Amino acid sequence: MATIEERVDQAEASGSDIPVENPATGEIIASVPNRSADEVREIVARARAAQPAWEALGYEGRERILLRAQKWVMDNKERIISTIVSETGKTYEDAQLAEISYVASAFGFWAKMAPEWLADEKVKTANLFVKGRKLIVRYRPVGVVGVIGPWNFPLTNSFGDCIPALAAGNAAVLKPSEVTPLTSLLMEEGLRECGLPEDVFQVATGDGQTGSALVDEVDFIMFTGSTATGKRVAAKAAETLTPIGLELGGKDPMIVLRDADLDRAANAATYWSMNNGGQVCISVERVYAEEPIYDRFVSKVTENVRELRQGRPLGPASVDVGAVIFPPQLEIIEDHVRDAVDKGAKVLTGGHAGPGPGRFYEPTVLVDVDHTMKAMTEETFGPTLPIMKVSDAEEAVRLANDSPYGLAASVWSKDTQRAEAIARRVESGAVTVNDAQINYTALELPMGGWKASGLGVRHGPAGLRKYTQQQSILVTRLAPKKDIHMFPYSKLKTGLIGKLLGLLYGRGKREKTYANLGA
Ligand code: NDP
Repeated sequence: MATIEERVDQAEASGSDIPVENPATGEIIASVPNRSADEVREIVARARAAQPAWEALGYEGRERILLRAQKWVMDNKERIISTIVSETGKTYEDAQLAEISYVASAFGFWAKMAPEWLADEKVKTANLFVKGRKLIVRYRPVGVVGVIGPWNFPLTNSFGDCIPALAAGNAAVLKPSEVTPLTSLLMEEGLRECGLPEDVFQVATGDGQTGSALVDEVDFIMFTGSTATGKRVAAKAAETLTPIGLELGGKDPMIVLRDADLDRAANAATYWSMNNGGQVCISVERVYAEEPIYDRFVSKVTENVRELRQGRPLGPASVDVGAVIFPPQLEIIEDHVRDAVDKGAKVLTGGHAGPGPGRFYEPTVLVDVDHTMKAMTEETFGPTLPIMKVSDAEEAVRLANDSPYGLAASVWSKDTQRAEAIARRVESGAVTVNDAQINYTALELPMGGWKASGLGVRHGPAGLRKYTQQQSILVTRLAPKKDIHMFPYSKLKTGLIGKLLGLLYGRGKREKTYANLGA
């Protein structure tokens, strides 16, 4: 199989290539093939042929390769970071902390948990008609998993979903965003070096049509991206009844209560809204601060944001906030800020696109905002932080829930019991107290959106089992020649069964059950 450089050359020769830009400089740094539907079909056919041997390798065999890959990631850390930085324009730190560290940990985590979470489960039943039978739930890989990823985290959110799919015994085909395909191609090279059998993991570079073709061919689609595209993927998958997981957009609220540790809350609001240039699905996108602490909170955040250094990343600690990765995203950010200002919002710092070359938007704080403004209701996905004054926690919860999205949220207070009670009232797949985003690094904890933010979860047992088909097995060992309910029907047997049902359920009592006792 070809190296990245060879594939880039092939793409240039074929003429149907997609140019890859460095958003921090505006330079074209590579180009990759735009795979057609026929090519996707061939890629998936090769994956399908390779999968049974990978499954047959068993957990231990797969673990050996996944752990080699973990070491490969650390041995090649600088090369991976520089690839990520070159195609995203994000900072060295954003690539190191949110991408290298996630994927390195994920290789070890899924290798360890797959045998445990996918082990056969023995089930007991209380139902008299089935008693004595052996009941088992087993998990079998679906076959070929298609992963379609966005551009904000080319390693974590694109390649990262392939790791549990592979650990479960599937082959995986990854369609990275056309904006950031190079990191995925590098991982393809890396896995080959680690001894992953040919065709078990392949990258199909291309645009939306390539992604759409992948949906038609695979046995499960894990999609991460915008809600609009997610709906298109769901409609396409419905044609073939292909199961899907959708991780979509968000508009994460941060609720700052009057008794919060204001320094921590202000530092966190600054960091978790501006890290990765604000291009994080679980970014703090809007803040509701209680009236008594609002002014102090706003001035601390504004002071922090004014100090952020933005520009082209040139190695570790060179800048704090990187580039806007995707060209149309800059227009969305500008539109949200303009719309807010037109409706009466005030910009305390930032508020403009940065100077070129490269694509930047200044870290921005907005106040005097409300829910008539796009900045408070639509996903901005940029380095902006609108802060709204609320009279009390009730108003904050009502406004936090006034959103089509429900991906993540946070509540800030020294009274963690009360904060947890408020967290439980927020309509969101994940809520953190006195923290944000770091729930994503606890791979034991399911992560998934409510409402327009997604379907299903990544991480946790369900985030692995979705890549399998559940099979229930019932084995009858010792049994009479004929069970009582079998033909021929007789008045005596029908009467006996009727009496038995009366005894069992006639008193309106809860049945004794062994549900969830799987051993
Ligand atoms: P998009 O929805 O535009 O694209 C996501 C992927 O889908 C890309 O690879 C894209 O290809 C591909 N695609 C486009 N059209 C189709 C189609 N018809 N069928 C199949 N695939 C298609 O999202 P972005 O890349 O713009 O990513 C940003 C969005 O992702 C934000 O809304 C963000 O919130 C969300 N996101 C959600 C996360 C979560 O975990 N919930 C995590 C990270 C991001 P191409 O790029 O070539 O067009």
